[in-house]
Amino acid sequence: MPVESQVIKPIAKGIVHRICAGQVILDLSSAIKELVENSLDAGATSIEIALKDFGEEWFQVIDNGSGISPNSFKVLALKHHTSKLSEFHDLQSLTTFGFRGEALSSLCALGNLTVETRTVNEPVATHLSFDHSGVLLAEKKTARQIGTTVTVKKLFSNLPVRSKEFKRNIRKEYGKLVSLLNAYALIAKGVRFGCTNTTGKNARSVVLKTQGSDSLKDNIITVLGMNTFNCLEPMALCISESCKVDGFLSKPGQGNGRNLGDRQYFFVNGRPVDMPKVSKLVNELYRSANSKQYPIAIFNFTVPTKVYDVNVTPDKRKIFFSEETSLLQALREGLQQIYSPNGACYAVNEFM
Ligand code: ADP
Ligand code: MG
Repeated sequence: MPVESQVIKPIAKGIVHRICAGQVILDLSSAIKELVENSLDAGATSIEIALKDFGEEWFQVIDNGSGISPNSFKVLALKHHTSKLSEFHDLQSLTTFGFRGEALSSLCALGNLTVETRTVNEPVATHLSFDHSGVLLAEKKTARQIGTTVTVKKLFSNLPVRSKEFKRNIRKEYGKLVSLLNAYALIAKGVRFGCTNTTGKNARSVVLKTQGSDSLKDNIITVLGMNTFNCLEPMALCISESCKVDGFLSKPGQGNGRNLGDRQYFFVNGRPVDMPKVSKLVNELYRSANSKQYPIAIFNFTVPTKVYDVNVTPDKRKIFFSEETSLLQALREGLQQIYSPNGACYAVNEFM
């Protein structure tokens, strides 16, 4: 039986905002990832993450970056407002983590957002609060060093299903967050990371504390520990004229008993990304040298910005390479050499 034709009408702005926000901010770790990336984009050398009840009650990212200038306060949390991209072709030469101007506006839609910030030109800091559509509600003067603190309370309180899942899986979410923070702490050179969690009244545990070394090796020792570092071998491969990959890889006899996904970190020009095909390839080749274990891998691909696209998913974890097949083939050949019976991992270059 034919269905009666329905009237088409626009979805109210606030509803669209909430629907889209749920795609940018998928869970606790993607919320904190966005804030950490904002701090890195602001040139911070110290980033502190504080969680209350594993982030369920609130979380905060505190940096010593550039701060936000007062003439941006009004538009700071409005959807698609950014200081990082103005032309479409800027996407081809991006060096910042952010560019979509969606994170703060999405966090407003999904929780209660406040910001404290101060630039070098301001004698005091300003405390800003926003409503769920990103409109500035109030500003007042406060004391703070140069930099920015973003606080989000009650994330997902207005997305009932997500909120329930968040509470049910809070420990799992927390584990995912720790792994994500490890990735940034490994790759960001000269940036000190700290993360603490407060549960109950005052039990405060330190989740992560790094010195912000300039070397990947030192960061591995701090983040993953000396024992893990001793099981790794440095590697560096040229995979084409303009692309190289370097990092660390498990020695043939010293992998992990289980397939610990959280022990494989992939970066493209210092941006942590998901690379399931590279992970599969590394696991497969490692098994030719060690059939019982899985490798730890920390790879940073250095490639020209114009050969890849990070604007694939709103959370920017997926990446498209224009010549993925040849890149994977070259990587396969390089790793085969490393894991051949007389192969040895390549020397470290000054890049690390
Ligand atoms: P995007 O990072 O894609 O630009 P966001 O919503 O994450 O979008 O942030 C909006 C803008 O707010 C940024 O472009 C930046 O100018 C400013 N901003 C956000 N967080 C910080 C921070 N921690 N320090 C300085 N500026 C910030
Ligand atoms: Mg951002």
